[in-house]
Amino acid sequence: MYVGFGYDVHRFKEGRELILGGVKIKNTKGLDGHSDADVLVHALMDALLGAAGLNDIGHFFPNTDPKYKNISSVCLLEIVYKKLKKKKFSINNVDITVVAEAPKIYPFIAEMKTNISKVIKLKKERIGIKATTNEKIGFLGRGEGIASMTVASIKKNNRPLA
Ligand SMILES: [Zn+2]
Repeated sequence: MYVGFGYDVHRFKEGRELILGGVKIKNTKGLDGHSDADVLVHALMDALLGAAGLNDIGHFFPNTDPKYKNISSVCLLEIVYKKLKKKKFSINNVDITVVAEAPKIYPFIAEMKTNISKVIKLKKERIGIKATTNEKIGFLGRGEGIASMTVASIKKNNRPLA
């Protein structure tokens, strides 16, 4: 079993849509970023890549490449999943935490799990998504952005582990 950790943060920006876990959350400002700024999926991808001993998302999807401008991060997650599959890894479980003062994430968690489950071919009961606030402390507490952290465990399938 291999374990990986991912962390990401994006600042809010007026005029952007908020996309988290592939879900469009209405009536709130969105996050700034080169892609759709889906901070939840970004931290998830880095956890998976880290567990597989691969480079981070900044390496594979540079924010200077026009190809990734406003791209859906769920599409990028699919590319990450394929990279793991190519290295004969399968995903055991992922555990995601979103830190946001607002909006409330809970109502969208089921849909986020469905989206992620489809792309990384992982049962929903093996996907944890939790939301917390930063208790009004610091930049997250002042509602300047949203952060996400993920732990992922994966396993290699071709031979028994040494
Ligand atoms: Zn990001």
